[in-house]
Amino acid sequence: MSVTINEGELIEEHGDIFEELFDADIESWFSADIACCENCYDDFIKAWPLALNANDSEFQCQSIDLRSFYSGSRRIRQCYTEDEFNVLIKLVNCPRCDEVLSGNFWPYELPFKYEVDQLGFEESINEIVELSETTPFLLLSNHFANDTFELLKKVAHSTNSLFIEHSLFRARVANQIEELNFEQFAFPPKKFIQEGRYNHAGQQVLYTASDLETCFREVREVLCYIAEFKLKKEIKKRN
Ligand SMILES: [Zn+2]
Repeated sequence: MSVTINEGELIEEHGDIFEELFDADIESWFSADIACCENCYDDFIKAWPLALNANDSEFQCQSIDLRSFYSGSRRIRQCYTEDEFNVLIKLVNCPRCDEVLSGNFWPYELPFKYEVDQLGFEESINEIVELSETTPFLLLSNHFANDTFELLKKVAHSTNSLFIEHSLFRARVANQIEELNFEQFAFPPKKFIQEGRYNHAGQQVLYTASDLETCFREVREVLCYIAEFKLKKEIKKRN
């Protein structure tokens, strides 16, 4: 026997309480708010590319579709049939893009120690990207770029220079070296330098390891040559 649902009545009577129960089930099941839905998944990944694989790909494991959510929910399933759920779920919007949830969604918290206004942060980054592409000389007119620059200046001032007593190491894979000489272990030519963790494209930075074993592992333990360095000057170092 099929029961016809009066959608308007159901929404009016249960709308508010349904939303509360939905939030409570999400929180108790995933310990996280919804990070994105099918509609804004691509934008989320573009803004937070490292989230995809952080903490053993936790984000990817959190994906759930509405049907599975209904089956696994505690409070919602006790109170509503699946047909009622399908009506009431239309009241729940994705907190990221504000579209009504449909298909898959991803409850997930970014792995930061402190609170970040996620959308505001993404907006700031996008503004900087746009400026850097159109009028790069105006970058410091952007408040976020300027705040970051001020913060870096503070960190630089509060960091002392010191000698690194121990040796540093840099490896090159053996079959990528034609002639063995010191140049092979110095800065790579500017034209080959891509964006890195600590440098912009074309900016010469020497990545070294602080011990031999780490250095060997960095080249995945293949046949290699390893150069040992001693720094003659003090440098600024943060732990
Ligand atoms: Zn969304």
